[in-house]
Amino acid sequence: MELRELGLTGLRVSTVGFGASPLGHVFGDVPRDTARAAVRRALDLGINFFDTSPYYGGTVSESVLGDCLRHAAVPRDRIVVATKCGRYKEGFDFSAERVTRSVDESLVRLGLDYVDILHCHDIEFTNLDQIVNETIPALQKIKKSGKARFIGITGLPLNIYTYVLDRVPPGSIDVILSYCHFGINDTSLIDLLPYLKSKGIGVISASPLAMGLLTDNGPPEWHPAPEELKLACRAAADHCRKKGKSITKLAMQYSLMNNGISTVLVGMNSADQVEENVAAATELSASGIDEELLREVEAILAPVKNLTWPSGIQQA
Ligand code: NAD
Repeated sequence: MELRELGLTGLRVSTVGFGASPLGHVFGDVPRDTARAAVRRALDLGINFFDTSPYYGGTVSESVLGDCLRHAAVPRDRIVVATKCGRYKEGFDFSAERVTRSVDESLVRLGLDYVDILHCHDIEFTNLDQIVNETIPALQKIKKSGKARFIGITGLPLNIYTYVLDRVPPGSIDVILSYCHFGINDTSLIDLLPYLKSKGIGVISASPLAMGLLTDNGPPEWHPAPEELKLACRAAADHCRKKGKSITKLAMQYSLMNNGISTVLVGMNSADQVEENVAAATELSASGIDEELLREVEAILAPVKNLTWPSGIQQA
């Protein structure tokens, strides 16, 4: 598995990253043995980057990921573990007091002494000035304490990144995690990459399958996409299936093609999914993407290109 530098952190992360939200049962139940097998297979195939949050499954994802990593008995310095703070089952709280307590709780659930990355989770749900003036300074203290090595911010709207990064002292944010903005149906993250590079910010892109839209099973019931996007993605998946091909493989490969993105976080809940997604990456390196299929799927998705959905509060 190819490793790429993550901004200026010195971390080298696998291009396919393991998104652990499915381990919190957010896409359906995952028996513990299945979860352990998925994480074991990921490690065996060279995946070294794992992402979770106290929000996923109301802390279940963190606890299950911690259990799976312990069960795999992997040396701590061989993996890069990211979790988040500020978003919980109970709601949002980006106060200094809450995020400081949050990392301690996460470390207990994960069974770790430190996380490699601590993200502020979905910052568009609070006043962004709170993130700049209160949350990031609190996270700097956590970084100094050694409980988190690097700091990140996540969220859906892309303008949150420039707002915050333009206002915090240089070096206080190391990475961003953007989701659903670099896949076949939505490539809007591309425009932000030169800016992020100029600031030395590492780029994590999540949800290459658009949170299930670009799969044969389709999205979960809670998926926030507008109906026309759901229908277009279903048509694209049907088209691939009729040709005996896989929309998921094509979508994974598409997301992996941009070197400005260090790692593509895909949610996985079984060893089979891990194998398929790693195989997609290996095949891409060896023989490139299926250009003909890509053109056909892009044509189907053209009417909904970059169509997204609202997320967060109205900023002042
Ligand atoms: P995704 O696009 O990765 O899709 C995940 C869905 O696709 C799951 O249902 C999974 O079981 C299925 N899947 C995966 N591989 C498959 C395969 N080979 N064949 C068929 N189905 C397959 O969406 P996601 O899980 O939401 O995103 C990935 C990860 O990124 C998350 O787990 C999370 O760690 C992170 N993330 C973070 C944020 C944030 O911070 N705000 C938002 C979204 C995602």
